[in-house]
Amino acid sequence: MNKGALFVISGPSGTGKGTVCTELINRGDVFLSVSATTRDKRAGETEGVTYYYTDKARFEEMIAGGEMLEWANYNGNYYGTPKAAVEKMLAEGRNVILEIEPQGALAVKAKMPEAVLIFIIPPSIEVLKNRLVDRGRENDEEIEQRLAAAIWEMEQAEKYNYIIVNDVLADCVDEISNVMAGVVDMRNKVYALLEEAKERK
Ligand code: ADP
Ligand code: 5GP
Repeated sequence: MNKGALFVISGPSGTGKGTVCTELINRGDVFLSVSATTRDKRAGETEGVTYYYTDKARFEEMIAGGEMLEWANYNGNYYGTPKAAVEKMLAEGRNVILEIEPQGALAVKAKMPEAVLIFIIPPSIEVLKNRLVDRGRENDEEIEQRLAAAIWEMEQAEKYNYIIVNDVLADCVDEISNVMAGVVDMRNKVYALLEEAKERK
């Protein structure tokens, strides 16, 4: 059995990463890694599903213990990907999505060059701000911090393998789904060719 493919999805807060990933998961064929974070749990979020919520001391222990595939500090909180769960899913042949910010995404690419990086952009900054405001999850100060962070984040976009706009949700999900299916298909073709080439020897 082939190992699963690893996809990393980033984009400024409010672009629609969470919404897009939920749609991709519902379509099947791909599984989401659950991150750990020190930020507070928000309304509508579930421990072990949205995040594993933890305190700073425990998070630092996990870093020191080598339990994180990657981690980053975003707006004063730690966020990180527990390594064991991702490795297990990949070994089982499942395709995995990490929905993480660019520091972490680029760290994953350095460790695992086979990872496919997808950056989602909003149609405009006005739309981005409206999505953050309408979501109603952060206060005005946090929204401003997230919009400020968006500048550095978008400066990293050209380091990604794909840049996809989230204007009409269904179109964005279709586009990412096609990218993922294409990557999986080509990987399988290469593996089959390699097997054939090795058998010839
Ligand atoms: P992120 O995970 O990138 O921070 P979310 O998935 O929470 O973003 O989306 C931010 C807000 O924008 C949510 O209220 C979501 O329902 C909305 N949203 C996401 N994608 C679209 C879209 N294509 N068109 C309109 N609203 C969207
Ligand atoms: P939020 O607070 O909106 O849930 O997440 C804030 C930012 O942290 C988003 O850009 C999100 O993609 C990112 N993020 C979530 N989990 C992780 C993670 O495990 N590692 C890294 N590096 N970033 C993460």
